[in-house]
Amino acid sequence: MTDYDCIVIGAGMAGLSSALKLSANGKKVLVLEKQPVAGGVGTSFKRKGFTFESSLHFVDDLMPGGEVREAFDKYGVSEKIEYIKLNEFGRVIYPDHDFVVGNDFESLKSWLNDNFPQDKVGIGEFFHSIAKFYKQFDHFMHAKIPLWLKLALSPLVYPSIIKTSCLTLEQFIPKKIKDKRARSIIGTLWGFVGLPPSELSAFYFLIVLRGCWGRDTAYIKGGFSRLFSAMVERIREYGSEVKFNAIVTQIITENGGKATGVRTDKGEKFRAKVIISNANAIDTLTKLIDSDPIKVEYAKSLSSMQKSVSAFTLYLGLNVSAKEVGMRYPLLSLNLGYDHDEAFKACLDGDYSRASFALVDHTQLDPGLAPQGKSSLCLMTFADYALWGNLSAEEYAKRKLETAEAIVAVLEKYLPGLSKHIEYMEAATPKTMARYAMLPEGAVYGFAQTVGQSSINRFPQKTKIKGLFLAGAWTSPGCGIHGCFVSGDEAADLALRQLRKA
Ligand SMILES: Cc1cc2nc3c(=O)[nH]c(=O)nc-3n(C[C@H](O)[C@H](O)[C@H](O)COP(=O)(O)OP(=O)(O)OC[C@H]3O[C@@H](n4cnc5c(N)ncnc54)[C@H](O)[C@@H]3O)c2cc1C
Repeated sequence: MTDYDCIVIGAGMAGLSSALKLSANGKKVLVLEKQPVAGGVGTSFKRKGFTFESSLHFVDDLMPGGEVREAFDKYGVSEKIEYIKLNEFGRVIYPDHDFVVGNDFESLKSWLNDNFPQDKVGIGEFFHSIAKFYKQFDHFMHAKIPLWLKLALSPLVYPSIIKTSCLTLEQFIPKKIKDKRARSIIGTLWGFVGLPPSELSAFYFLIVLRGCWGRDTAYIKGGFSRLFSAMVERIREYGSEVKFNAIVTQIITENGGKATGVRTDKGEKFRAKVIISNANAIDTLTKLIDSDPIKVEYAKSLSSMQKSVSAFTLYLGLNVSAKEVGMRYPLLSLNLGYDHDEAFKACLDGDYSRASFALVDHTQLDPGLAPQGKSSLCLMTFADYALWGNLSAEEYAKRKLETAEAIVAVLEKYLPGLSKHIEYMEAATPKTMARYAMLPEGAVYGFAQTVGQSSINRFPQKTKIKGLFLAGAWTSPGCGIHGCFVSGDEAADLALRQLRKA
């Protein structure tokens, strides 16, 4: 039996980020992944000549200057892939508005001022507040002082972070902005975090807002799977191992005190000094660990936590360029109303005639993703596992097809001629999300980013078991490739500290 410094369960972004850092630091790591490929929910797949992204639209922080990009450059991942920068975030449609958002706040601010002149003072206040928040947030992240001191100084040095962490997005947007449409447009990116503004933590929303509308976003030539494969290659080149088709069924502990290894579905046993789990927090802590008293304790505390929403995704292979049906930019955010709470509820009820959608045409950035002259479209909206989880095979197939057709009918109004150009169609439901990436009830963003579960209230990466750490969307800081990269990086730091002590 080989001994490792660290075993990483799962090869999603956070698991790979942990394994990369540890391997680059000379540690011997074993990554065990259930699927035959890396990337978790973020992987790409190919059907009948069309390459689709299973979930990812674009990723922030990948262009020069971003912390994720810096790490990929440093660890030699960038040499293996080609980044494609987006010129703008994309096109945004509401009932009375149709506009393009750039990747800088100035153009957004001037668009809002031009369209809502009566709310200029409130809009100015909003941009002033977020600038203050980002300044304090960057200082908090980069100041070279111990965390405990930063936290102790927070009321004096980081009041904006504390205030923002206590508010929902709805509460954060200044009351002086009276036009509900302006308030909704500011909150458009709620869909990237999976909760409407009335419930969503302003703290995590602002992190995502800067990533997507305030800075450059990027795609990877050939698909995001190339990025995950490049990370796997580098981990192996550093001397560590990545095994696919390996499901971890047990985390072995010494009487519940310290994690010492794992067991897989094939009965193999591996030992390590520390373990990082990129598997969902609920399964890790209530099923995988072998200590019954700790499992019971966790089951009790986790039962009161709110899981994020699930998703319905649609993959369309068109026999023409999507531009021919009016998809003028790689990304379209389609909002059938201004009330995001109503749109969220409509999604949960399975009524897509009142919902919001994000539609992406990656072929505009990389024509090689589809046969010549054709295009691959990926659409995402939200869905409730409760409507999907307990259907018979027949009912499930029927609902899947009806939902896909209902969504195509909505899209047809904005992209006329779309339906007659569909050459290939496939959909993924909350059940797919639950099965593919082992996400309880298909919760695509981990624990929901409510005020009580975000920022300093985020579920911690350290567990009650010594040497067992969590990495990924369920823990700190949260969902998104950037967030999960940071989560994996910080789990690696915790593991390195533990290894030094040992
Ligand atoms: C529809 C959709 C659209 C999105 N769009 C974007 C976007 O445009 N930009 C963006 O930045 N983010 C986006 N996200 C969010 C982002 O994809 C996720 O937050 C991120 O990929 C989650 O990564 P993770 O590290 O938490 O791991 P996951 O992707 O959840 O991967 C965990 C891995 O662990 C494996 N695993 C689980 N249990 C075991 C076990 N017992 N043994 C072995 N392996 C196991 C799983 O198979 C999986 O590969 C989107 C998400 C969804 C669902």
